[in-house]
Amino acid sequence: MNIAVASGKGGTGKTTVATNLALSLGNVQFIDCDVEEPNANIFLKAKINESEDVNVNYPNIIKNKCNYCGKCSEFCAYNAIAVVPSKVLVFPELCHSCLGCELVCPNDAIDWSNRSVGKIQHGQVNNIDFYQGVLNVGEIQAIPVIKSLKKRIKRDKNVIIDAPPGTSCPVIESINESGYCILVTEPTPFGFHDLKLAIEVVRHLKIQFGVIINRDGIGDNRVELYCQNENIPVLLKIPERKRIAYLYSKGISLVNESHEWHEMFGSVFDKIMQEVNK
Ligand code: SF4
Ligand code: SF4
Repeated sequence: MNIAVASGKGGTGKTTVATNLALSLGNVQFIDCDVEEPNANIFLKAKINESEDVNVNYPNIIKNKCNYCGKCSEFCAYNAIAVVPSKVLVFPELCHSCLGCELVCPNDAIDWSNRSVGKIQHGQVNNIDFYQGVLNVGEIQAIPVIKSLKKRIKRDKNVIIDAPPGTSCPVIESINESGYCILVTEPTPFGFHDLKLAIEVVRHLKIQFGVIINRDGIGDNRVELYCQNENIPVLLKIPERKRIAYLYSKGISLVNESHEWHEMFGSVFDKIMQEVNK
């Protein structure tokens, strides 16, 4: 079972849910796809023992073959190539490595260089096989790092994916092959608004999903009523408690604090399996 944990916005407790679920289950693969700010390992505490660069291609212009016809620049949807009368300018950080410019070049004047956009780190903790993607500082190409992470997924294991926040391309790339998606939200007007956007995405991708309400007790009951009306399962409500905020600030998982939390997150997995097998 491949379960993605996502949220319409950051700071809703997505990583809390993903890490506690993994720790309660054990024997899972954990993939932290929140590559701009991977923080699951603060809670999991896996010992990182492997690191591998993620490289992407960008075009190199072979000057003595180029006649500055401009076809590469016309083709590039990302404005990564500009052709001026006697020069071709390449902007590697804008290039999405689609290789299309090489296809349209009539003079075979393009070959390839590569650059690092981030890295994949791997480690183990207890029986959790942990992977995280780390985007280089200032880098905008999150997708290649997420794609590279997903190549590590083992089909014969339960997998927990900690998706980036929001509803943009990196989220879709992270969750699009999951069998189930947990959407974490807060019972506030902002939380409700962003939850509805996230629901649109998972419905569009045809991924079965349920909701976990974090900080239950603040705000109002709009999220819960909406879920009731839309027949969306609420898998768990995590109450607003000072103790939980304290544990979070110290990097301590809820399931390590009490057996009660261990059972509650274990029951989330059971509910998901019931939903999937309905
Ligand atoms: S398409 Fe090829 S020949 Fe034309 S400007 Fe680009 S690199 Fe040069
Ligand atoms: S590989 Fe694609 S994105 Fe990159 S410069 Fe060529 S056409 Fe543009």
